[in-house]
Amino acid sequence: MSILEVNGLKKVYATRFGGNKVEALKNVNFSVEQGEYVAIMGESGSGKTTLLNILAALDKPTNGTVNLDGKELSKIKESAVATFRRDNLGFVFQDFNLLDTFTLEDNIYLPLVLAGKTYKEMHARLEPIAARLGITGLLKKYPYEVSGGQKQRAAVARALITNPKLILADEPTGALDSKATDELLHLFSEINKSGQTILMVTHSVKAASHAGRVLFIKDGEVFHQIYRGNDTNEQLYQKVSDTLTLLATGGEK
Ligand code: ADP
Ligand code: MG
Repeated sequence: MSILEVNGLKKVYATRFGGNKVEALKNVNFSVEQGEYVAIMGESGSGKTTLLNILAALDKPTNGTVNLDGKELSKIKESAVATFRRDNLGFVFQDFNLLDTFTLEDNIYLPLVLAGKTYKEMHARLEPIAARLGITGLLKKYPYEVSGGQKQRAAVARALITNPKLILADEPTGALDSKATDELLHLFSEINKSGQTILMVTHSVKAASHAGRVLFIKDGEVFHQIYRGNDTNEQLYQKVSDTLTLLATGGEK
């Protein structure tokens, strides 16, 4: 069953002073099945952030629809959008987006605090997630006291704690060193294997090569996609890398 359906998505930014219009998305179509791990790649300016913002209901498309688990985003009342986002989506960003004045634990609790959960329930939810992510001993620390990789694991815990239908990740390894990148990618794979659906935007061939499917966007459209099939990460890495070369040299496929 598709958890996410994106149909005919178009986004035109009207620049001010009646200047040129920018067509960030022309006609994007794809769907994501329950339990999939999908990576989206594309050059800078290809519309990746625009797409994520629309999927997160942070921005509206000029045309087209986004359906998340049977609910069309455009039909959700303005006053209910924030709650819908909090209840259905988990976010992992390149720059972690943790609050510096909160401990890791309080950062992770934040979406549940906003949802009005009790401390007891928050604690019960956090325990297994923290153990799994290897951050149990770090929960009382502040973001500035831990490494980038540890911050990102706290951010993943914050994304998971609401038990979201979909995790949206924007360059989640973009600010990590190679060891922390490997750890995070391993973690994403594990989380996905336990059933969590993940949609990740990335520049990194390595990150994309961990996904089950890789979509390439170019000129505001899905240009190509690769299914992992039975490929190893190394084999998928090679295919992704070849496709990017083809894209960069303007080849059509
Ligand atoms: P990516 O994340 O792939 O780098 P973006 O979605 O940020 O791409 O941008 C796609 C295109 O839309 C670019 O040409 C960018 O300059 C333009 N764009 C993005 N946001 C705005 C905006 N708020 N107003 C006008 N143009 C924008
Ligand atoms: Mg971007």
